[in-house]
Amino acid sequence: MPTSNDDRPIVWFDIDNTLYSTSAKISHAMGERIHAYFVGLGLTHEEASELHLRYYTQYGLALRGLTRHHDVDPLDFDQKCDGSIPLEEMISFSPELRKLFEDIDRSKVRVWALTNAYKPHAQRVLRILKLDDLIEGLVYCDYLAKDFVCKPEPEYYHMAMAKAGLSDPSKCYFVDDNRGNIDAAKALSWAHCVHFCEKGLEGVEGGRILQIDNERAPGAPDNDVIDISTLEELRKVWPEIFKQSE
Ligand SMILES: [Mg+2]
Repeated sequence: MPTSNDDRPIVWFDIDNTLYSTSAKISHAMGERIHAYFVGLGLTHEEASELHLRYYTQYGLALRGLTRHHDVDPLDFDQKCDGSIPLEEMISFSPELRKLFEDIDRSKVRVWALTNAYKPHAQRVLRILKLDDLIEGLVYCDYLAKDFVCKPEPEYYHMAMAKAGLSDPSKCYFVDDNRGNIDAAKALSWAHCVHFCEKGLEGVEGGRILQIDNERAPGAPDNDVIDISTLEELRKVWPEIFKQSE
């Protein structure tokens, strides 16, 4: 168990569309289920699409808007959306990915996951990928908490650091496929941020199909973040966290 006198830096890994490829189409499956959930609230398809996108854009997570503005039980939502995705048929164990995690030098850093999903989904993904024993801590969206926070809200990152007993943002390494989540971390001075960017693939965000790219939104902060398209590239980007080859 980490303690507050454990001053090793932390490598934070996002889970969805970072530990597995967007080509697994899990974001598509999630988008469809969330859309169906909105429709189930009595909205037309058009209203559902519009609201889904608006909540995602405004809050970073459609469920944040659903709990704020509709009488939605987050656990029911989780069961019908993330909980009903046949993950076992969509993603599979990758020996290379496990090796990458094994090669991280634990005497130098701790390895945690930082996700916008709820705990059961996060744990399910980590189990399928056989990474659960290599992730020391998990920060997830606590759907049971009233007004729970999520990335990219600063409070979420503060909560993550507090949970890990870490106060120095220069000791944070972070990789996420969502550039907005990276920008938020940079704004809090998280020192080593990497954007996982599978350029050219199609993903679903806020219910809309998007072509993944590394272009910046208008007005986005100008910061020097490295893009990678495979996690293997972390060996080159962050050589200091890996065991020295024998
Ligand atoms: Mg992600």
